[in-house]
Amino acid sequence: LSLIDRKGERSYDKLLGGLLADGFDERSCRSRYQSVMYRRRPGRRPPAYLVSKLRQQEALQRRCSPGTAAYSRALEQLRGKSGGDTAGAQDCKYLVSISYRGLGNRILATASAFLYAVLTGRALLVDPSNEMGELFCEPFPGTTWLLPPGFPLASYTNFSIATAESYGNMLRNKVIRTDAAGDDVPAFSYVHLDHDATEQDKLFFCDEDQRVLRNIPWLVMRTDNYIVPGLFLVAGFQEELGRLFTEPDAVFHHAVRYLFHPSNHVWGLVARYYDAYLATAQQRVGIPVRVFGSQPNSPELLEQITRCTQKERLLPELLAAADPVAPRPSRRTKAVLVTSLKSWYYEKLKGMYWERAAATGEAVSVQQPSHEEFQRFGARSHDAKAWAEIYLLSLTDALVTTAWSTFGYVALGLAGVRPWVMYRPDNETHVPDPPCGRDVSMEPCFHAPPFYDCRLKHGADTGKIVPQVQHCIDMSWGLKIV
Ligand code: GDP
Repeated sequence: LSLIDRKGERSYDKLLGGLLADGFDERSCRSRYQSVMYRRRPGRRPPAYLVSKLRQQEALQRRCSPGTAAYSRALEQLRGKSGGDTAGAQDCKYLVSISYRGLGNRILATASAFLYAVLTGRALLVDPSNEMGELFCEPFPGTTWLLPPGFPLASYTNFSIATAESYGNMLRNKVIRTDAAGDDVPAFSYVHLDHDATEQDKLFFCDEDQRVLRNIPWLVMRTDNYIVPGLFLVAGFQEELGRLFTEPDAVFHHAVRYLFHPSNHVWGLVARYYDAYLATAQQRVGIPVRVFGSQPNSPELLEQITRCTQKERLLPELLAAADPVAPRPSRRTKAVLVTSLKSWYYEKLKGMYWERAAATGEAVSVQQPSHEEFQRFGARSHDAKAWAEIYLLSLTDALVTTAWSTFGYVALGLAGVRPWVMYRPDNETHVPDPPCGRDVSMEPCFHAPPFYDCRLKHGADTGKIVPQVQHCIDMSWGLKIV
C-alpha cells in the first residue's frame, strides 16, 4: 500500500502491512524500511493471523535467545548434564539450520527452517557459516538468530547422510520408534533433508514422525531445498498453515520478505545500481541466466531467451537491418537486467538492440552488474554481488527465468511475481517450442520431495495428495505450492 499524503508526496507502508516489526534501528539495516521505496508493486498483504504469529515467534526468539537462562539450560541438556527432571528444562526447544551451498539454496533452506520452527514452536538458530551474518540483517528485534560459538555439537556442520543421530538412521537402527514414542527421547536429532536424503530421512514429512520429533529439544537440520511443500503434506500442520497463509502461493513471498534484508554494504550495491541504471526506465525486465558448471555459451539458449521475451511481448521485436520505415522514437524506455556468471548473453542482447531498431520504437537498454565467470564458495565479495543481483532482479516488473535455479526463485518470491519459465530442453542443441511458459505460482520448487503416502505406507505421487501442492513446470518431479 502506498498513499499520497497532503503534500502530494508518496508515503510508503514500510512495515509491509505488519509483516515487519517496528522499532528496529534504521541505520543498522537501511534496506529493511527503505526497500519499499524501490518497489513498484506493494506485494501481498499478510493475513492478520500470520502477523500475530510472527510477533509471537519474535517474543519466543527473545525468550530463548543465546545468553538467556533458558538457553543455558537447554545447552546443559544437550551436554547430557541435566537430569530429565530439571525444572523448566523443556521451556525452549530449538532448530539449528546448517548454512551451506549457494546463496539461493541457503535462503530457501533458512526460510524453510523458519516456517518449520514457527509451526512447531521452536526457536530458530542459524549456522553463521558462509557469511550468513554479513549478508543479512538480523530479522528478529532485540535478539540474534545466529548460533553463537561454542555449540556443544562441535562438528554439526559435518553432519551427513551417515550421521548416526540422523532421524532416518535412528529409525533404521531402532534407536527411536514411532510406535513407542514416550518419555525416552534423545536430547537431539539431526534432520537430513539434503538432496540425497533417504526414504527414512523423508519420513520427516509424516505425522507420526512429527509426533516423535516434537518432543526432541534440539533439532539440527540440513537442507539445500525449499521443503515447505512437504510440510503441506503433513496432516497435523494443514490447519495451521491454512490460517497462516490464506493465499498458499504467497508462503515464500511473506517468509523471504520477512527474514532477508540485505546488510548495509549489500544494500549500497543494490541502491546505487538501481538508481544509476534502472530507476528511470518505464519498464524493467529481469532475466537471470543461470549457467551451470563449465557449460559453453549456448546460441540455442540465447535464441530461447529472445523467442520467449518477444513472444510474450516482454521485449520488442527487431526490424530488419535495412528497414526503410523505422518508427519514430517513442521515448518509451525499457531496461533489461541480465544476471549471469557469463557476460556473453548480455553482450549479444545488448548488441541486438543497438544494431537494430525495436519495432515499437522503444529504447531498450541492457545491463548486467557482474560476471563472476565461475561459482565460488566462501569468497566474500562473490556472494555480496550475488545477493545484490538477486535483490535487483526482484525490483523488476517482469521476470523470465532459466529452469532449476534457486537464485531465480528467491528473486520471484521477493518480487511477488509469477515468472515466465524457459523450459529445459531435452537436447541442448534444440530450442524448446514453446520456448517458455507462465509459471503456476511464484513459489519455489522443492527439488527433492518425498514420494510416499504416509497414511497408506507406500510410494505415491505426492503431487496429487493435497490441492495446494502440485508438480513444478521447470522440474517434473519437483513439488510446489500453488
Ligand atoms: P542455484 O545453484 O542456481 O540453485 O543458485 P545458488 O544461488 O544456490 O548458487 C549459485 C551461486 O553461484 C550463487 O550463490 C552465486 O554465488 C553464483 N552465481 C550464479 N549465478 C550468478 C549470477 O548471475 N550472478 C552472480 N553474482 N553470482 C551468480
